[in-house]
Amino acid sequence: MYRVIIIGAGPAGAYLAYLLSRAGLRVLVLEKERFPRYKPCGGGITPKVVNLLGFDLGHVIEDRINTIVFSHRLTRPVSFTSEKPFTYMVSRDRFDALLADMAKKAGADILEGYRADSVEVTGKQVAVHSNGTVWQGNILVGADGAHSFVARSLGLAGEKKTAAALEAEIPVPAGRLRYYRSMIKIDYGIVPAGYAWIFPKSDHLSVGIWSTSPRQKRLKRLLEIFLHSEGLSEPASRVKTQGWIIPVNHKLKNLHKGRAMLLGDAAGLADAFTGEGIFPALYSARLAAEVIAAQDVSPLPDLGQYAELVREKLGPELAGAFRLNRWVSPITGFIHGVLHRHQDLVRNFIEVASGDLSYTRFVQYFSQHMKTALRI
Ligand SMILES: Cc1cc2nc3c(=O)[nH]c(=O)nc-3n(C[C@H](O)[C@H](O)[C@H](O)COP(=O)(O)OP(=O)(O)OC[C@H]3O[C@@H](n4cnc5c(N)ncnc54)[C@H](O)[C@@H]3O)c2cc1C
Repeated sequence: MYRVIIIGAGPAGAYLAYLLSRAGLRVLVLEKERFPRYKPCGGGITPKVVNLLGFDLGHVIEDRINTIVFSHRLTRPVSFTSEKPFTYMVSRDRFDALLADMAKKAGADILEGYRADSVEVTGKQVAVHSNGTVWQGNILVGADGAHSFVARSLGLAGEKKTAAALEAEIPVPAGRLRYYRSMIKIDYGIVPAGYAWIFPKSDHLSVGIWSTSPRQKRLKRLLEIFLHSEGLSEPASRVKTQGWIIPVNHKLKNLHKGRAMLLGDAAGLADAFTGEGIFPALYSARLAAEVIAAQDVSPLPDLGQYAELVREKLGPELAGAFRLNRWVSPITGFIHGVLHRHQDLVRNFIEVASGDLSYTRFVQYFSQHMKTALRI
C-alpha cells in the first residue's frame, strides 16, 4: 500500500514525488510515456523555477536569455537587454527526465510506460488500474496534464478555460543559431489574445504560437506566416509541429475531492498572459507536499488545505495574469507603441518573471503607465 499514488511524471508529478520521497513517504508514480519523451513546450523557465527547485540545472540549461525583442504584427521591433538572464531555455525531454531521475534517487517508484486506465476513490483508500495491475494507496494525485484523465474520472474537470498552442522544432545551421543566442523574440498582434515566439535551444529553435481567444482556427496558417517572416519556412527544415492546449483557470475551483487532488495543468494552473505553466506546476507540487507530509495516514486526509493554499498563494498571480491578458489583447498596437517609449515596463515585467515583483503590483504599475500614455 502506497501513501501517495501520482498519475503523470511531468514537472508537477515528478517534483511532488521527489519532495515526498525525501520526506520518507512511500510514493508510486505511473507515467504513460518512457523518458526521455517529447512534450510540446517552448521550454522557457523563469528564475522563479530555478530558485524554487534549488538544485543544479546547469547541464539541462541550453541557453540563458538576457535580450527580448518584441514586434507588433511582425513590424517595428523593439529590443530590451538586461544584465542578468531573465529566462532559461530547456528541452522538456531532458528537463523532465532530470526531475524523474531526482525522484527515483530520492526513493520514489516511477513506472514508465504505465497509463492509468481507471481510478477508484473511496472513503478508505484509492485504487489505480494500469496494464492489468491494481495499486492501492492512501492519496491519489492527478498530475496528468492538460487532458487530465484523473480530473475527468473524478468529475473535477469542470468547464476549463483553455488556450490553443502550436509548436515547431526547427533545426537551423550553427551560424543562424548564433544570431538567436541569448535572445527570445515575441510578436504580439499576429495572433489574437496570445503571441508568437522564437526560443533558441542548443541545436534548434522552438517556434510557436498560442492564443487564449476562442477563435483559434487559423493557428496553423499564422504559424506559417510567422515562420516565413523569419525566413524559417522551408517545410523540410521542420522536424516536429504539434498542437496542444494550455489550461488557464484563474478561478481555481475543483482542485480536490476526498482523497484525490490535482496539480499543474491537470488543475488548470497556467498563466493566462505568458502561458507559463512549469512554475505553477512545480509550485502546486510544493504546496501539495507541505499538506500531505503534515497529515496522518489513517484518517481521511484534509486536502481542502491544499486547495486553500493554492488559492491563497497562486490565485492573485493567476488572476493578475488573466486581467492583463484581457486588457492588452485588444490594444496590442497601442501597447507596443508605449513599449518603445517606456522600456521600464519591460524591466518591471522581468521582475515579475523573476518572482521579485507580484502581478498585482505590476498590474497597478501597468495601469498607471497606460493612463499617462493616454494623456500624451
Ligand atoms: C506549445 C506549448 C508551449 C509551452 N511553453 C511553455 C514555456 O515556454 N514555459 C512554461 O513554463 N510553460 C510552457 N507551456 C506550458 C507547460 O508545458 C505546462 O504547463 C507544463 O508542462 C505542466 O506540467 P504538468 O506536470 O502539470 O503536466 P505535463 O507536463 O503535461 O505532464 C503530465 C504527464 O502525465 C502523463 N500522463 C498523462 N495521462 C496519463 C495517464 N492516464 N497515465 C499516466 N500518465 C499520464 C503525460 O505523459 C505527462 O508526462 C507550454 C505549453 C504548450 C502546449
